[in-house]
Amino acid sequence: MVNILELAFTAFMLAQILQVVAAVREHRIAKAMPTLSEYIASHPQSQTERGIRCHHCKSGSIHVFHVSGIAIHRCNHCNNKLYRSN
Ligand SMILES: [Zn+2]
Repeated sequence: MVNILELAFTAFMLAQILQVVAAVREHRIAKAMPTLSEYIASHPQSQTERGIRCHHCKSGSIHVFHVSGIAIHRCNHCNNKLYRSN
């Protein structure tokens, strides 16, 4: 017979493991983003006198958000992730 406390503990531990797996996956995806210098090397037309712009839509409006401590730069207009800065 399964004890309800054992079942609850197992479910809790499974949730914890899944949370760690998701965090590791997010971190790997963020780390796989190009750095700013790699982004410019791939898209030299994105470096302008007014700053960096999106190579998809040419917008200069770029938003920064953080994923597991990594700063990701994303275009405000087309939402494409462009590069990371750390
Ligand atoms: Zn864009």
